[in-house]
Amino acid sequence: MLILVWLCVTASTGAAQTVLFSDDLSTSAGWRYSHFGGTNKPDSSDTSDADFGFNYSQFGIPEAPNSAPGDVGTSGLRLAVNVPGLWRGDQVAAVYEDAAFAGPYTVQVDVWANWVAPSGSGSTEHVGVLAGFQVDDAQNTFSPGQNGAGVIYSTDGDASCGGECDFALVKDGAHLDLASGQYGESDIHSENQPGYNNTNANDNVDLENLFPSFSIESATSNMNATGTQPAGALGFQWVTVTLEVDPTAPGSGAGSAVGTVRVTLESHQSGNSLVLGTINNSVINDPNDGFNAEEQSVNLEGGIGLMMTDLYASAASDSSLAFGLFDNVRVYQGLVDPLAAQAQSPAVVVPEPTSATILLSAVALVVVSLRRTRSMLMLVLLAFATITASPAQAQLNLFANFDHGALQSWSGDLNNISLVGRENHPFQDGWRWMYFQATGLDNAQPVFSIDQEFAGGNYALNSHAMVYSYDNENWQFFENNGRSGNLYTFSNNSAFTGDEVFVAYAQPYSYGRSAEHTATVLASPWAEPTVSGDANGVIGQTPLAFDDLDRLVPRKDIFAYRITNPATDSPTAKRKVVLTTGMHSGEVLGTHTYEGLINWLISDDVRAARLRDEVEFFAYPTLNAAGRFAGTSRATVENPDQDPNGLWNPSLWTTHEDIRANGEAMLADVASTPGTEVDVFIDFHSTIPSSAGNDFGFIEISEGDANAPWWQNLLALQPNVQQVESTGMNWTSANFADLLLNADVDVTFELEFGNNRPLSYYQELGESFGIAFYSDWIQVANPEAADFDEDGDVDEDDLSTWQDNYGLNGEATHFLGDANADTAVDGSDFLIWQQQLGSTPPAAQNVPEPSAIAFAAFTVLTLTLSGSRSRPAK
Ligand SMILES: [Zn+2]
Repeated sequence: MLILVWLCVTASTGAAQTVLFSDDLSTSAGWRYSHFGGTNKPDSSDTSDADFGFNYSQFGIPEAPNSAPGDVGTSGLRLAVNVPGLWRGDQVAAVYEDAAFAGPYTVQVDVWANWVAPSGSGSTEHVGVLAGFQVDDAQNTFSPGQNGAGVIYSTDGDASCGGECDFALVKDGAHLDLASGQYGESDIHSENQPGYNNTNANDNVDLENLFPSFSIESATSNMNATGTQPAGALGFQWVTVTLEVDPTAPGSGAGSAVGTVRVTLESHQSGNSLVLGTINNSVINDPNDGFNAEEQSVNLEGGIGLMMTDLYASAASDSSLAFGLFDNVRVYQGLVDPLAAQAQSPAVVVPEPTSATILLSAVALVVVSLRRTRSMLMLVLLAFATITASPAQAQLNLFANFDHGALQSWSGDLNNISLVGRENHPFQDGWRWMYFQATGLDNAQPVFSIDQEFAGGNYALNSHAMVYSYDNENWQFFENNGRSGNLYTFSNNSAFTGDEVFVAYAQPYSYGRSAEHTATVLASPWAEPTVSGDANGVIGQTPLAFDDLDRLVPRKDIFAYRITNPATDSPTAKRKVVLTTGMHSGEVLGTHTYEGLINWLISDDVRAARLRDEVEFFAYPTLNAAGRFAGTSRATVENPDQDPNGLWNPSLWTTHEDIRANGEAMLADVASTPGTEVDVFIDFHSTIPSSAGNDFGFIEISEGDANAPWWQNLLALQPNVQQVESTGMNWTSANFADLLLNADVDVTFELEFGNNRPLSYYQELGESFGIAFYSDWIQVANPEAADFDEDGDVDEDDLSTWQDNYGLNGEATHFLGDANADTAVDGSDFLIWQQQLGSTPPAAQNVPEPSAIAFAAFTVLTLTLSGSRSRPAK
């Protein structure tokens, strides 16, 4: 899972640090895996490995030191090279290159690497962390074919690495010379370095003192690794690698290139750290200073590389141990010196819960004065939970660092939980979208409270009810919701019956759900990507941008698809309908309604089937993908201060990439098929209670749009739905559709929050839109009894309806194949169909058995019809 980014607090110093990026490597999202080959490779098959979400507890490896609440436990990235160990010089890297990190920044990664103990004779496997990595520039050469700047290290201290060594600063694929002055330690061994001890790192007393030997067996379990980890090296332990990157720092060398990277390795076995050195772009390669590294200056702005390289073939006695692990990648804004934190922190020893409480209080006092005060309390409490969490007794904790989550901070106990909402509405003060998870609530009956300053007006909370769920799928409304004083509170009359509870402003609809639903739709024979999309329906991506919590939001795919019966595509224009949702990221009820409509359109309902014959639906479920993912209430992440529903003008799109991706796709998609008019455009939203009093559509009443029969059908099916004059002149999606998509009728449809309605209400309302279209465009007034789809003829479509539902008894309707209204679908209905099939005389005089029916039907069909509705192969 890609965890987003948050502000955190260094407990020891009280300094607030902005996290630009954080990832627990439980999925490969955002990462690119590259294999850089090697020499003497036997064939072209890539037998190296990169496993994201690798559960390292199976090897008895403890949780990585910088794991945070919400991380997937004992899960990280496993890299392995030389599998099965046939050639040398094999190298792999996982590269996060979406974010081009710039300015001073600090990369921190937890790394674990083994050597083959006790029988191995040493290891040439190295793990590494690199900043400024640009995979397109990466060299496919030996030793090591990576770029950027950072560190690689090996694990056993044997120095048996043939021109490489156990610790190496790396710059643009070159190992830096010890003689270059960039190392902090003068003697860490590297071969061919005149004037230095060329034996091994274990002889360096500094390193031996920093990293004492220990029993491997005692540090791991289940690993079948025994023996002693040599002093002076970093095998079989978590090492936090920190790169303090300053791309513009002037150097101390003779060259003019700027930029430095300070490299620190912290051993969690010993608790000690080594500043390996500071890579300096201004140091010019000296071919005579020892091993000629041919080092070049390197651009320090770019991606992050996590790498593993093996300089020779591994002859591992147990190759399953030959891997490196990476967990908890974090990038901080600015230079974050890990030693400064250590030096000032007597509390690196994990305290007992009671002392943790004291520590927490102290930290909280420090923190209150900091600039991001709003965020602090929650973050301190998150740190508290890290320290004290134990499996036996879950601590109360609230967090929202997941897809669609939104919570600024919280405080309180199991009786009273005080919430602070995120104020990220583009033009109104107060909170609005809220969605978080709480743990430790089993048997608790808390009263939640929040300031009633609500974006849109606190009156909107008068009739509002919050929702909760134990499984994040099935939602219930809180029983007590109301305003009191300055607060809005909600609670239940009985205690929670589960430890984990999700709480939200309304039934959430995450970005991930839209992505999954799109995949489901595209798997149907009745949907396909639009001309703007790839095979997965992806029409573009959101731009990288920071959200209101200073989190760098990854690029999110934007989706579209076309629903129709492709067998009836022809040069004759079909009706066109454009359906959209998700523009206002917190308006989830609109998206549930949209989903109900889409599900019906691809269903087996005969009315949907007939619609698909004559109508094509262009559908766009993720108008604001990044905003929904990041938990904003309304705006995109790219433009937090603007209402995205005013940006639907191509002249505005240079700085609104997500709206542009959707808008340009709509223009191209509707133009890609015959016909120049869009019959209907609907954008599904939700709204706080309004003067209209219920669900409603903004529609151009005065221009006659509301007279459209399908709209009147909808009002008849859903008497609670209102119509409101649409007068807006700005660039809303509806006006875009009206002016640029040539939409005959354009509607902005609003589902009202706070009406205590279950999700089934929205699903069924979505279906009603489909039925309203059908009733207008397909259905005839007085169909024949055997005209089951009521489209004005009795044909093979009706026979297939009868066949599909043959045997129904007691619940059949006309649409299901019941011609004689006896609530069954049986032979008598078939006889009516036969009799009504055009002028064709009955082919059988008796009621056929089901097995004979297929034959009879076949006979009839060969006599009669053309233009059957076939299922496309897919
Ligand atoms: Zn809206």
